[in-house]
Amino acid sequence: MTSAVQIRNLEKLYPLAGGVVAALRGVSFEVPQGDFVSIMGPSGSGKSTLLNLLGCLDRPTAGEYFLGGENVAEMSDDQLAEVRATRLGFVFQSFNLLSALTVVENIELPLYYSGRLNRDSRARCHSLAKRVGLGDRLDHRPAQLSGGQQQRVAIARSLVNDPRFMLADEPTGNLDSATTLEILQLLKELNDEGRTIVLVTHEPEVAALTKRTILLRDGLVQSDELRTPGAPR
Ligand code: ADP
Ligand code: MG
Repeated sequence: MTSAVQIRNLEKLYPLAGGVVAALRGVSFEVPQGDFVSIMGPSGSGKSTLLNLLGCLDRPTAGEYFLGGENVAEMSDDQLAEVRATRLGFVFQSFNLLSALTVVENIELPLYYSGRLNRDSRARCHSLAKRVGLGDRLDHRPAQLSGGQQQRVAIARSLVNDPRFMLADEPTGNLDSATTLEILQLLKELNDEGRTIVLVTHEPEVAALTKRTILLRDGLVQSDELRTPGAPR
């Protein structure tokens, strides 16, 4: 089976006035389809940089990235935008919802941006809102929702193009522990549907609910461990 993701010797250098920052210094791993990976590591170890590369939001300085078997380096900026819009779903720590829009309008937003709004969009967004447990909050605005509910909206928005690969940067970083578990349960259900998920977290309780943890340190993979299903935590 084709891997969801294969990266080899990925490097990312940020040239700054005071010198170059090497955020990633040769990272290699493979993510099979259907995996649920947590990326951990101290602040500054390169987690967000790696997630941005995996999400085709940025290009590596060196190294290879195959997404679903395709070489990302050979894609034009337009092709990358198409990949982001149709094959990837993004979830962020700060939810990134638009405060003036309702729940349903926020979920619809990627369709609007990518010119994919059509007569079926509204019904599809309603069912996604229901899917994440917000069927009775369709016309609420973000300020009228709890943090956990806002993250549910963001997850529904990330699903609007039915991506097979989801990326989440500290998705529970702003949530209390009970809400964190609810959001992880939702992500686990999406993984059970066959979606590949890579999430960044600094919380061991979150990593414990994923199938595998990759630990970064100073821009390198320090460890990469599978979690045995059912093993005591
Ligand atoms: P993490 O998410 O693990 O905290 P980051 O990937 O955000 O780490 O950052 C890794 C390193 O790269 C840090 O030293 C950070 O200061 C640096 N860095 C990140 N983004 C940029 C940027 N846009 N320009 C310059 N340096 C950056
Ligand atoms: Mg980060």
